[in-house]
Amino acid sequence: MEIESRLYQSKDGRVKCQTCAHYCEIRDGRKGICRVRENRDGTLFVLNYGVVSSIHPDPIEKKPLHNFKPGTYVLSLGGVSCNFRCEHCQNYSISFANLDFPTKYISPETVVEMVGRYNCEGIALTYNEPSIWHEYAEDCFSLAIEKGMYTVYVTNGYMSKEAIKVMSDILNAANVDVKAFQENFYRKVCGGSLEKVLENIKLMEKKGIFLELTYLVIPSKNDNSDEIREFTRWVADLNKRIPVHFSRFHPDYKVMDIPPTPIETLEMAYEIAKEEGVEYVYLGNVFGHKYENTYCPNCGEMVIERRGFEVVANLFKTEKCPFCGYKNNIIL
Ligand code: SF4
Repeated sequence: MEIESRLYQSKDGRVKCQTCAHYCEIRDGRKGICRVRENRDGTLFVLNYGVVSSIHPDPIEKKPLHNFKPGTYVLSLGGVSCNFRCEHCQNYSISFANLDFPTKYISPETVVEMVGRYNCEGIALTYNEPSIWHEYAEDCFSLAIEKGMYTVYVTNGYMSKEAIKVMSDILNAANVDVKAFQENFYRKVCGGSLEKVLENIKLMEKKGIFLELTYLVIPSKNDNSDEIREFTRWVADLNKRIPVHFSRFHPDYKVMDIPPTPIETLEMAYEIAKEEGVEYVYLGNVFGHKYENTYCPNCGEMVIERRGFEVVANLFKTEKCPFCGYKNNIIL
């Protein structure tokens, strides 16, 4: 379905899209970097409204969110395309897809109705970049909040300031990918800017959106201990209570010549993050590892036990640690 964009300026037939941090200036008849917004005679059209490529009830742990609503299921939707171009994309079949990819229109009303039907408690826009789905996200999330459901973004954090302002009232939680802690990596590999992502993380934090961060550790690309220390120091300085996930890389898309991340590298990243003061650190894509669990940052006791995406035991009755009483950063 096509609708008019809600975030753009138009002058003399040219438009400036204000949906994501690229702020594309688009000539008549052309599309922006994401290929789902098109200038037609000075009006910016959204071509992907409600265009769903995948929909599935997932454990919230799969997003991954480990400190937000643990053990619940979230109706997860993906569309097509992206505003980044990461060569190692772990979801390239839809992130690099065009609008001719097989999809189905699903209205916001139907999405909200499906949340209950599939025994979920919220909606996550995930699988591909949700910020290029801004209007659909706004409509789905507004309805969901009215009905007492929670809302989630799994995002590269490259939305515009204007979009964050709109979403701040209706977006409960986000997992933001930090792809590396080098400006050069963002420019060359992703087609974006680290600085803008960090600014947005700060802004989302300030707006009260519950945040967790994911760092996909790619051997020889972003696994240097100095880089990981710089990243985790930055997180701890912003808010040491923001959970950080170090995720294991698997060869994908154009990057097939790099092996999966060694477990020792992920454990090294974990130790560095803890040394820098990050309170909640997790390892991802390592089924059965002890660092899938949540440990109280004060007493070190295991408070949530996981196996993969399954919560085996959750000892929290309130946000207070059942062993030492420390007030954890957890939304139950
Ligand atoms: S959403 Fe981003 S990439 Fe797409 S047209 Fe707008 S500014 Fe450009």
